Amino acid sequence: MARISEEDIAWRSHWLKQALAQEADLQPPLDGETTADVCIVGGGFLGLWTAIRLKEHRPSLDVVILEKDICGGGPSGRNSGMLLSAWTKFSALAALRGEEEALRIIRQSAEAIDGIAAFCADNGIDAWLDRVGWVWGATCEAQSGAWDDALNKLARHGYEPARRVTRDDIAAMTGSPGHLAGAFDPSAATVQPGHLVRGLRRVALKNGVRIYEKTAMRRFSRRGDPVVETERGRVRAGRLVLAINAWSAAVPELAPALFIISSDDAASKPMPEMLDKAGYRRGPLMIDSRVFVSGWRVTRDDRLVVGVTGGHIGFGGVIDARFHRPSPRLGDMRRALRAGHPALADFPEEGSWNGPIDRTASGLPLFGALPASPNVLYGYGFSGNGIGMSFIGGRILSALALGIADEWAGSALVRPVTRGFPPEPLRFVGAHFVRGAVRRRDELEHAKRKPGPLTAWLAGLAPSGVTPSKANISGEPRQ
Ligand SMILES: Cc1cc2nc3c(=O)[nH]c(=O)nc-3n(C[C@H](O)[C@H](O)[C@H](O)COP(=O)(O)OP(=O)(O)OC[C@H]3O[C@@H](n4cnc5c(N)ncnc54)[C@H](O)[C@@H]3O)c2cc1C
Repeated sequence: MARISEEDIAWRSHWLKQALAQEADLQPPLDGETTADVCIVGGGFLGLWTAIRLKEHRPSLDVVILEKDICGGGPSGRNSGMLLSAWTKFSALAALRGEEEALRIIRQSAEAIDGIAAFCADNGIDAWLDRVGWVWGATCEAQSGAWDDALNKLARHGYEPARRVTRDDIAAMTGSPGHLAGAFDPSAATVQPGHLVRGLRRVALKNGVRIYEKTAMRRFSRRGDPVVETERGRVRAGRLVLAINAWSAAVPELAPALFIISSDDAASKPMPEMLDKAGYRRGPLMIDSRVFVSGWRVTRDDRLVVGVTGGHIGFGGVIDARFHRPSPRLGDMRRALRAGHPALADFPEEGSWNGPIDRTASGLPLFGALPASPNVLYGYGFSGNGIGMSFIGGRILSALALGIADEWAGSALVRPVTRGFPPEPLRFVGAHFVRGAVRRRDELEHAKRKPGPLTAWLAGLAPSGVTPSKANISGEPRQ
C-alpha cells in the first residue's frame, strides 16, 4: 500500500500532521478508463459525506471520488475545528424561503452536531469532538449586539439556541475580560478536523467507495452522461458531483456566486500551564463579531488554535501558492488575542497554515444541478462554516443524485446559482477596497472612533461569513 511521503506531509496543517502520523495511506491515482454510477470530484468533508450517504442509501452503488491532492488536503483538514450550528444566519436563511424553512435548516444544523458525534462513535473515529460550547462576543462597543437580530427573531419561534451573557459571565467561563458582552451557545463543539476527515475517508473506503488520490479533474463534459477527464484517465458516470469548495470558481457556471479569500490559523505548542494561568484550559471556543472574524479554541493536547479571516484574495478561479503555505498573519492573530484574550497573545507558536474560503454574498452554501446539465450537481459556498453544513450537504447531494424527493432535496439551500459579485477583474479590485475598508473600520471602532461615510459604505458591502456582523445582519445577496 502506498504512503504519503514525509516531504508531502511536512508542509501541511498541524491537524493533518497529527492525523497522518497515525495513518498516511495514499490511494493510487486513476490510470485508464473507468465507469461509475456517481463520480464525486473533491475528497473533503462534502465529497466524503456525500459518498458515505450514497452507499448508505444503496450499498451496491458504484461511487468514485477523484481528489487532486489527498483526502482532507483542502480546508477540511486545515480549518479551526469549530463545529457550529447555523442559527446566526437566520435572516439570510429566511430571505431564501421564509422563517419556517429557516428554522428547519437551523434545527438540521444543530442536529448535525449530534449526527457527527454519533457517526464518529459508531464508526470508531476519534475526532476529539468536545462539547465545549461557544461564546460569540464583542471586543468593542460597536460590535455589541451582533447576535440580537437572530436571537430576537428565533425567540419569536420559541427557539433559543444561545443565551446572552455579560462580560463577567464570559470572564468566568473563559478567563478573559476581553469580550464586553456576547451570546453563549452550549451546543457547539470543537473537533480535530484532520482526524475527522481522515476518519471519513477510512469509512468511505471500508464501505466500498473507490478513491483516486493525486488525481485532478481537468475538464468534464456537460452533455448526457458526464465524462470526467484527468491527466491519465477518464470516468464516465451517471451523475457527477462537484464538491470542490473554492475551486468551484474555476467552473464558469459556478463562479458568479463566489469570491475567494483566505483564512489563516496557527497552533501553539502544548501549553497547559499558560492555559491554566489564563483560566482557559477547557474553555468554550470564542469568536468575536468583526466582519472578518477572529476566533480561538483549545485542543485536547493543551494547545491554543487561533484563526483570523479576511486574508489574501483570489483572482478568478486561481487558488495559487499563497493559499498553501504557512500563514503570514501571526501578527494579526496576536492582535486579535490582545483584544479578546490578552493573556494568550504571546502564545508559543508551533505551526501555521491557511486555506481558501468559498464566500457567497449571503454566507450560505448552494446546492443543485447545472441548468443545462442536470446530471452535474454542485455544492459549495460554505463561507467558512462548513464542518456542520457539509454534513447536511452530504444528505442533500446524495438525495439529489439518487432523485429522492425528500426533505433534503427540498431544502431552500437547493437553488440556482445567482450572481453574488461582479465579474473579474472588478471583483478582485472591489474586494481589495472592501477588505481595506473593513480593516480600517475595525481599527477605528476598537479605538472608539466612528468610521467616515466612505469607509462605512465600502465596509458594509462585505458579505457575511462565519457570522453576520452588525453592518451586514441580513446577509441578503447584493447584486
Ligand atoms: C483556515 C480555515 C479555518 C476554517 N475554520 C472553520 C471552522 O472552524 N469551522 C467550520 O465550520 N469551517 C471552517 N472552515 C471552512 C471549512 O473548512 C470548509 O467549509 C469545509 O472544509 C469545506 O469542505 P469541502 O469538502 O467543501 O471542501 P474541501 O475540504 O476544500 O474539499 C474540496 C477538495 O476538492 C479538491 N479539488 C479541487 N479541485 C479539484 C479538481 N479539479 N480535481 C480533483 N479534486 C479537486 C481539493 O483538493 C479539496 O481537497 C475553515 C476554513 C479554513 C481555510
